[in-house]
Amino acid sequence: MYPTQIEEHVFGLAPQKRTSVLSVVVPCFNEQDVISEIADRLCRVCGGVDIDDYEIVFVDDGSTDETWKEISTCASLNSKLVAVKLSRNHGHQLALSAGLSIARGQRILIIDADLQDPPELLPEMMELMDSGADVVYGRRTVRHGENAFKRLSAHVFYRLMDAMTEVPIPRDTGDFRLISRRALNVLLSMPEQHRFIRGMVSWVGFVQKPLEYERQPRFAGETKYPMAKMIRFAIDGITGFSIQPLRFATHIGALVGLIALIILGKSFSDWLRGDTLQGWTSTIGATLLLGSINLFILGIIGEYLGRLYIESKRRPLFIIEDVVRSASIERDRVDIAL
Ligand code: UDP
Ligand code: MG
Repeated sequence: MYPTQIEEHVFGLAPQKRTSVLSVVVPCFNEQDVISEIADRLCRVCGGVDIDDYEIVFVDDGSTDETWKEISTCASLNSKLVAVKLSRNHGHQLALSAGLSIARGQRILIIDADLQDPPELLPEMMELMDSGADVVYGRRTVRHGENAFKRLSAHVFYRLMDAMTEVPIPRDTGDFRLISRRALNVLLSMPEQHRFIRGMVSWVGFVQKPLEYERQPRFAGETKYPMAKMIRFAIDGITGFSIQPLRFATHIGALVGLIALIILGKSFSDWLRGDTLQGWTSTIGATLLLGSINLFILGIIGEYLGRLYIESKRRPLFIIEDVVRSASIERDRVDIAL
């Protein structure tokens, strides 16, 4: 059996021409002011594309505002909507994973709740998938309504990822993408706790095509990614896809060793000439520098070790507390090849 045959056997068939069911997954954390707007816009867009049926899965990621009330009410009134409540705030990537795990379509659209990524791009994404792509990802050409710091940090981060990882993760993309059922099945089979979904989707492979668009300002509310969360997310991305930082420790160790040899050589020749150095400041400086390099490298090793420890517990990724669904998509229309 050739590898492609094995993949097809395990993960289902290549994306077919137009699907019968489309799922849209929307993670929401304190998004009470945007729910009705995004639900309206998504229903309008999904109703306009050539598919048999669709479902929109809203995941409430432990919100402290009225988000759950909003989405559960919408789901009890509109049979196209599904509301999922997580037991607490699990973070964007796990909320998304929870939604993906219960999505039942053959094509799945991932989109944020805040309407920064326009749902109206769906028809173009569907066409690109019709032409043979398993993943169609949105690539931001402009980011409106985001401050210079966020734009700069995102710019640096994507370039750093590029330099450090072996898997080519496209630059300037978020999680806004349309993926095929077989790509999703591979993604769902990846058990890691620290999830960097845009990288994991790239890792899956198959044909992946970009669709360029301008990112809009938030429809309402504040970003849920403050600086500390952004840094954690960046560390998840880098450590999840690269062991370069550990190699960096070796490189820096070798470099410092070389410098030490040169200094020792110089001291030896000074000693031969009977000329001894009286350098307190330089001694302390070198000691502190070496100490800080040691601690930094220990920190990097600790980061990977900690991740190994958390992965080894094999806890469930998320806990679903409640699901509200007023009608179910008929089983015979659904073909989830697990
Ligand atoms: N989000 C979430 N859980 C969190 C943080 C964010 O489900 O702990 C959701 C949020 O509601 C939004 C998406 O993830 O739909 C992206 O968050 P946000 O728009 O705040 O990030 P930004 O676009 O500013 O990077
Ligand atoms: Mg946003």
